[in-house]
Amino acid sequence: MCISCRQRFPRYTLMRLQLETQLVVKYIGVGRSFYLCKICATNQKKQTGLAKRFKVNEANLTELLKEILNNG
Ligand SMILES: [Zn+2]
Repeated sequence: MCISCRQRFPRYTLMRLQLETQLVVKYIGVGRSFYLCKICATNQKKQTGLAKRFKVNEANLTELLKEILNNG
């Protein structure tokens, strides 16, 4: 389930991320993770919401999501 829009998608279509201290990163196998769908990952308003929710830098989050979308 996508953490942002709460819709269910096949897991392989979602990107798995985790929250580090003040930073969202690609899931590295340990810690608490969450899923984000590609629709939300490319939606600026959703990104703003997520950045606020996690108290992380929005520009960094946008950059990370873009990179994951491009490179997997
Ligand atoms: Zn979503």
